[in-house]
Amino acid sequence: MSAPPVTLAPEAIPTQLVDRFGRTVRDLRISVTDRCNLRCTYCMPEHGLQWLPSPQLLSAAEIARLARLAVERLGVERIRLTGGEPLLRRDLEEIVAAVSTLRTRRTGTKPDIGLTTNGLGLDKRAAGLRAAGLDRVNVSIDALAPEQYAAVTRRDRLEDVLRGVAGAQAAGLDPIKVNAVALPADLAERAPQLLAQCLRRRWRLRFIEHMPLGPRGSWRAEDVVDAAHVLDVLKRAGFSLTPLGRPDRRPAALWEVAAGVGPDGQEYPAGQVGVIASVTAPFCTDCDRTRLTADGRLLTCLFSSTETDLRGPMRAGADDEELIRIWAAATWAKPRAHGSDDPQAGDSGFTLPARTMSAIGG
Ligand code: SAM
Ligand code: SF4
Repeated sequence: MSAPPVTLAPEAIPTQLVDRFGRTVRDLRISVTDRCNLRCTYCMPEHGLQWLPSPQLLSAAEIARLARLAVERLGVERIRLTGGEPLLRRDLEEIVAAVSTLRTRRTGTKPDIGLTTNGLGLDKRAAGLRAAGLDRVNVSIDALAPEQYAAVTRRDRLEDVLRGVAGAQAAGLDPIKVNAVALPADLAERAPQLLAQCLRRRWRLRFIEHMPLGPRGSWRAEDVVDAAHVLDVLKRAGFSLTPLGRPDRRPAALWEVAAGVGPDGQEYPAGQVGVIASVTAPFCTDCDRTRLTADGRLLTCLFSSTETDLRGPMRAGADDEELIRIWAAATWAKPRAHGSDDPQAGDSGFTLPARTMSAIGG
């Protein structure tokens, strides 16, 4: 009697993105372009940055396909579109609409869709983006005095940005979060003014510690304004702050701000302020993020020196399962913390990635 044929069990196809340290990815940041219409000093050099040639950028359909795998096959629940400046993509509404047709595995609802933008042109796009399914926006505003804003962004565009945020608010995008990098210049004046104005407009302000992700040589550990210093500046300006911790172990530590009178003598209502201490207190142990660059490379960490190509296999005809395996294998190898697995990490403990923040997608 001949032996029954041996059937090999098919290799299991991953159903989530987990790493060696037990973290599970729930949050995908997709950079949709490396281009930008500002030149923030902490992010881009003034001149000389080469843009990716258009054929190298993922198309809207390619982004939609990878987002579908992430959400419907791999357990991702939040998608954030970023860049470069994502509003420079004319098909951003199409991308948002495609992502909003997806259904998360856990709740069967659409993923939470956020946009990180500098706000330029947002007034004209906000209603369309909201109709396409966008839930929230984070707008980067480092100063509310035009000359200070221009000094940081190298462009005199503050008025346009404020028009953009007003448009987002009018379109019902809520909450509006404002990101400000904690830079030393004029901090004692800039930070209290920003906070008072954001409280009045009901925008949620978060200061971010300056990370070494801008032009090479533009960052020095000794210049980093840490979270404690930002809080000290705010307290000295008269803000009464009560710590709320890091709700849901998200990157921002929050403080409740009591109502008061701002540096301009005008009242502000009670609200909150956040500080993201990505340099002095990195949240790597709670990290549930992964990143996709505009040219289709996976980065498991902002500071990763390893990139995993998804665009090449996708354009060579890889099926969904092959892409899922590549994605899961890259995630498994995610480093424990910034630069921690890299012998080249400098004294700061950071490995410097090959790309600047604008090309990674913040
Ligand atoms: N252009 C959009 C914007 O400015 O919001 C999206 C891309 S930008 C790279 C995303 C976020 O990264 C912004 O909030 C920006 O302030 C932040 N960022 C850029 N370079 C940074 C750095 N070196 N350290 C900390 N945050 C940085
Ligand atoms: Fe452009 Fe955003 Fe970078 Fe500023 S932070 S240069 S707006 S990508």
